[in-house]
Amino acid sequence: PCTPTVTGRFAPSPSGPLHAGSLIAAIGSYLSARSQGGRWLLRLEDVDEGRVRPGAADIILRQLEALALDWDGPVQTQAARKDVYQEALAALQAQSMVYPCACTRQEIRGFGERYPGICRPGLPPGRQTRSWRLRVPDLLPPWEDRFHGPQQLPAPQGDPILLRADGYFAYILACVADDGEQGVSEVIRGGDLLTLTGTQRYLQSALGLPHPQYGHLPLLCNADGSKLSKSTDSPAWAGDPSQAWEETLRLLGWVTPPDLHAADAPVWRDWALTQMTEEKLLYRMTTTGL
Ligand code: GLU
Repeated sequence: PCTPTVTGRFAPSPSGPLHAGSLIAAIGSYLSARSQGGRWLLRLEDVDEGRVRPGAADIILRQLEALALDWDGPVQTQAARKDVYQEALAALQAQSMVYPCACTRQEIRGFGERYPGICRPGLPPGRQTRSWRLRVPDLLPPWEDRFHGPQQLPAPQGDPILLRADGYFAYILACVADDGEQGVSEVIRGGDLLTLTGTQRYLQSALGLPHPQYGHLPLLCNADGSKLSKSTDSPAWAGDPSQAWEETLRLLGWVTPPDLHAADAPVWRDWALTQMTEEKLLYRMTTTGL
């Protein structure tokens, strides 16, 4: 049998049940990978152990099953893979692509949005290493988003932290190391991560990993304009799977047939898969927008 060329994934943090916004990433990444005959992996991003909520992982698996989104292979987690992230950090340390940072949380807050690189030239005298940061250029290399086209942005927060002061590895390092190790070739996810992608791609280059193709889907917001978030008690999706399919596809700009309205999840899934061709884009930007 030939090896599939496309590997997609869904990588929710188990900080709460999936909400309507996470369903867009789940269904979008599934349809993209599966319609190309590819694999679709499930990774629970529990690297930030303080944000993990007991029971959330199980709920997420049940939610995906109810939507008939079947994943390949075992579910991967991150909390038990610190040695892998440590090895990646060591490789970067060996190339001086990272530097120790002594700045405290309070100092960092005072710097504003972007870390100004205080510890780049070396730790200030008498200060201790608290975290490790990746040295990134002011403007990151350009790349192309599948839905949003050419992108070239500065790293939003400047040199990102890879190993935090509390001893946990940062999401950005765990995610890049795992995508690399799992052979992920496309990342279809929520629009909130669009601005972070340049930094992730830079980290991939630094680690000698290939770049997956990236596509960012619309980001759902609360009425006050804040992003829906699993950890801040946005309403979890608890509705029926048929309604979830219908609403999610509409948010992606699809026109859904009325006769599917109350269909079972596998019927929705199989219909959506037959609709997915390169001509009928997964995400119609013209009707939704980010
Ligand atoms: N774990 C991240 C989240 O739940 C998503 C990471 C990704 O898809 O790259 O927001």
